[in-house]
Amino acid sequence: METPQARLTLTIDERIDEPGNIARVRLCAADGAPLPPFTAGAHLDVHIRDADIDLWRQYSLCSDPAETAFYEIGVLRDPNSRGGSETLHRIVRTGGTLEVEGPKNHFPLNEAAPQSLLFGGGIGVTPMIAMARRLRALGQDFTLHYCTRSREVTAFRDALAAAGLAEAVVYHPTTTRRPGSIWMPCWPRPMPGSTSMCAARRASWTG
Ligand SMILES: Cc1cc2nc3c(=O)[nH]c(=O)nc-3n(C[C@H](O)[C@H](O)[C@H](O)COP(=O)(O)OP(=O)(O)OC[C@H]3O[C@@H](n4cnc5c(N)ncnc54)[C@H](O)[C@@H]3O)c2cc1C
Repeated sequence: METPQARLTLTIDERIDEPGNIARVRLCAADGAPLPPFTAGAHLDVHIRDADIDLWRQYSLCSDPAETAFYEIGVLRDPNSRGGSETLHRIVRTGGTLEVEGPKNHFPLNEAAPQSLLFGGGIGVTPMIAMARRLRALGQDFTLHYCTRSREVTAFRDALAAAGLAEAVVYHPTTTRRPGSIWMPCWPRPMPGSTSMCAARRASWTG
């Protein structure tokens, strides 16, 4: 379980700039101690400070919930940012520190589901990556549907492959859809998702 409201100053172990203006940031304890555990879907509250910026923003954990040596988050630089993501992109450097609170989980995974269809659009994929890692560890049946603009701006592809999840991901690039194509979900109450998946698969690529 998460340790609620734990405030930690973590060391930035690594920053990897992913396609699509996303920074993947790995955080660990300065002394290498194990970090508080988290469950898939959890996020950190990150304290962002620089000059006149003093903000808290939330970032989902995309690392493996079984991993206690480090946390990993992905931060999209929002072009309309009032400071949070723009500042993080500017100040986050390997060897620096970040103050965080959490982990906290307002988006828990149903680990007992016989089958899980995970959907992530753009940076919204971050909690889904942790969920996919967890479902794989549990041996559960799942597919991660990942919508991005194009293969070229798809972040986390290497991380997903390194985690052995490449085969579990169906990518849906929005820019290679034919002009005029639409997403047209339709389902009765007890059947969410099934029809929309037929439409989604038509515009997909794998790998
Ligand atoms: C649980 C949770 C998990 C999250 N996980 C992630 C994650 O994994 N990765 C990630 O990148 N982000 C994540 N976010 C979003 C993140 O917390 C920030 O909201 C995001 O980085 C934008 O912050 P910002 O300060 O750069 O932008 P903000 O200044 O907060 O602007 C965000 C948007 O608000 C609009 N806006 C700008 N100015 C105004 C205004 N004056 N009034 C109203 N609207 C305005 C703009 O359209 C802008 O795009 C998560 C949020 C939550 C709640």
